[in-house]
Amino acid sequence: MPAPRCASCHKARAALRRPRSGQALCTTCFCAAFEAEVLHTVVAGRLLPPGAVVAVGASGGKDSTVLAHVLRELAPRLGISLHLVAVDEGIGGYRDAALAAVRRQAARWELPLTVVAYAELFGGWTMDAVARSTAGSGRSRSCCTFCGVLRRRALEEGARRVGATHVVTGHNADDMAETVLMNFLRGDAGRLARGGGLGSPGEGGALPRCRPLQLASQKEVVLYAHFRRLDYFSEECVYAPEAFRGHARDLLKLLEAARPSAVLDLVHSAERLALAPAARPPPPGACSRCGALASRALCQACALLEGLNRGRPRLAIGKGRRGLDEEGSPREPQPSGPPTSEPIPGF
Ligand code: SF4
Ligand code: ZN
Repeated sequence: MPAPRCASCHKARAALRRPRSGQALCTTCFCAAFEAEVLHTVVAGRLLPPGAVVAVGASGGKDSTVLAHVLRELAPRLGISLHLVAVDEGIGGYRDAALAAVRRQAARWELPLTVVAYAELFGGWTMDAVARSTAGSGRSRSCCTFCGVLRRRALEEGARRVGATHVVTGHNADDMAETVLMNFLRGDAGRLARGGGLGSPGEGGALPRCRPLQLASQKEVVLYAHFRRLDYFSEECVYAPEAFRGHARDLLKLLEAARPSAVLDLVHSAERLALAPAARPPPPGACSRCGALASRALCQACALLEGLNRGRPRLAIGKGRRGLDEEGSPREPQPSGPPTSEPIPGF
């Protein structure tokens, strides 16, 4: 049976059904709708004002690739300029290939690129060294906890170096729903309360951050990358299989199969969450070492580095006292396979 006509232009044959709405669209109309929805997210949320110099956290994976591509399309209308900032965590056999993809993107799209490395920023510590230190085996369940905290700091530093006024990351709705679910499963009310909204306004001197793809489903991000023929890196980090996030992801898939709106419902639930006064975390102060926002004497990054440098890396991640929970920080969105390996809902 031939594919139906596109429900938007009524001329071309439809190439897909939108995963959430079931609407049949041709590739041109789907890509235009996807870009218009990201534009709406940015404009309605007042995320990136005209004149903003935007540091795009670029990992080479599908999410940040799609984010950079869409923002480049929208930049003239938004009146913003873009600068790719990539973080080299020092993960052998993984990050070098991903950085090569970022370099290709920067060259093709004629966007400036700056790479900042953990080893340079954090006194020689790479993620491989952190993994050896925390587990002695090259792998550790807490790798993503360290990596998430250090990457946030590294991206902030890279953005400052290039004179950015705003930072954007490629987290999509599925990433956000996983984070909400993980925080529920841990009973972490403080993080749940902080995790809502489309970004943070830049408290304590930090640059404002936002996630323009936060309402876009992972499936549609993959479809957009596929139809735009974007070149991205799709292998999983060597430490990812150890992460608690994988369990949240599996659970979310089950929930979504039973209730297709589960992902967005979870994202919106975090936005609307109101904490009783007694459950609210105390207002953060300043880290005594680096001045960043901190709820204790040291910020998360300084506490983790302190533990690493003292040879007691697990001190800072919540063993015996209230520290960082394992997998406590949203890790970088992981690629979920090359475009052609994802089921493309078509006809
Ligand atoms: Fe870092 Fe992501 Fe790898 Fe975890 S999965 S160690 S957050 S790059
Ligand atoms: Zn600090």
